Amino acid sequence: MSRDVWDKIPEYQWANDARRSGLYPYLRPFDETEGPEAVFEGRRVVMLGSNNYLGLTTHPKVIEGAIAALKRFGTSLTGSRFVNGTTRLHIEFEERLADFLGREAAVVFSAGYHVNLAVGSALLRYGDVALVDRNVHASIYEGVRLGVASGARMLRFRHNAPDSLEKHLSRLREEERPMVFLDGVFSAEGSLANLPAFLPVVRAGGARWMVDDAHGFGVLGPGGRGTAHHFGLGDQVDLIGGTFSKALASVGGFLVGDEEVLDYIMHRASSFTFAASAAPASVGAAMAAFQVMQDEAWRIDKLRENYRYMAEELRTLGFRIGPTESAVIPVHIGEDMTTLLVWRDLLEEFGIYTNPFVSPAVAPGEALIRSSYMATHERTHLDRALEGFAAVGRRHGVI
Ligand code: PMP
Repeated sequence: MSRDVWDKIPEYQWANDARRSGLYPYLRPFDETEGPEAVFEGRRVVMLGSNNYLGLTTHPKVIEGAIAALKRFGTSLTGSRFVNGTTRLHIEFEERLADFLGREAAVVFSAGYHVNLAVGSALLRYGDVALVDRNVHASIYEGVRLGVASGARMLRFRHNAPDSLEKHLSRLREEERPMVFLDGVFSAEGSLANLPAFLPVVRAGGARWMVDDAHGFGVLGPGGRGTAHHFGLGDQVDLIGGTFSKALASVGGFLVGDEEVLDYIMHRASSFTFAASAAPASVGAAMAAFQVMQDEAWRIDKLRENYRYMAEELRTLGFRIGPTESAVIPVHIGEDMTTLLVWRDLLEEFGIYTNPFVSPAVAPGEALIRSSYMATHERTHLDRALEGFAAVGRRHGVI
């Protein structure tokens, strides 16, 4: 019997098989990315596969914000927020985020991923029960798993189903302490968590709850305040997480809530205390994007107009796009192979860049093409995409 840890590596052939068949969609380099258009392997494409919702990655003020922070603090802080990695910029941004979201405090992290690792790992231990919507982002699962390693339990409830959560809550032991985890906007489906229906269930169960609003911040709610504010529940959710890597056109993350809770998390979460602080340029860019988002309110309006137009047109063409109400629109296909063929033809024939979600990222038989929209897409981009979707969808029997 062989006893080498590496033994499993040659057995993993999925990626090589996909590369050989010309259907490998991952890790392929862009030559340029300008926002609504990009250059991919030498050809100009319409970008429907980013999370650059407000189109701010190339905005002059955002670039200036990055440069100013870079010049002031250098290329790296070479240490974690906890020690030498906190600057005046972090503190100012935290104050502004807390104020914007109407909460006591905010904490800036190096990534949204780290936010979710922090919450699960810092707050969950023996006697705590994490109740997780089945479809939450992988990083919430990772954080909860760290809590499970400290003795907590994890239960998964049906996607966006308050009745399923209620059933689980009713079966907990008297002494168990529940905490519920949801995405505000589910990252593959584009659907919104039904927070008004969850609220009474969470309250009746005596639970705490967190909403990861990576795809809602900058998209939904008044001024882009996100999913909880969209439902008028900005002060009812215990913790709201966010990222800089989508609407805020940078890299980093944030968490808002009560000061005492955030202080506890900052002292107890390894992803905060042991990971290097985000590069100053990243924080400067996110802060500038946050300002532009408020100064150029037309961006959120245009984004909403764009994704509503696409949802309506794709539905009219006969595509199954599910209950999306955000800048993420999935086109449900089913089979992995058909999905990869649709993805390839959209790209190679029509110059439309999308993201295929195939198993194991989604359950077998539930493969989809994820498309996402930006404030800076013009109607011509969208109509070109629709033309591609219609032709390729018909060819592969999707519509
Ligand atoms: N939560 C959700 C719902 C996400 O989609 C993502 C990123 N894809 C993250 C968290 C992680 O955020 P970041 O990219 O800032 O690490």
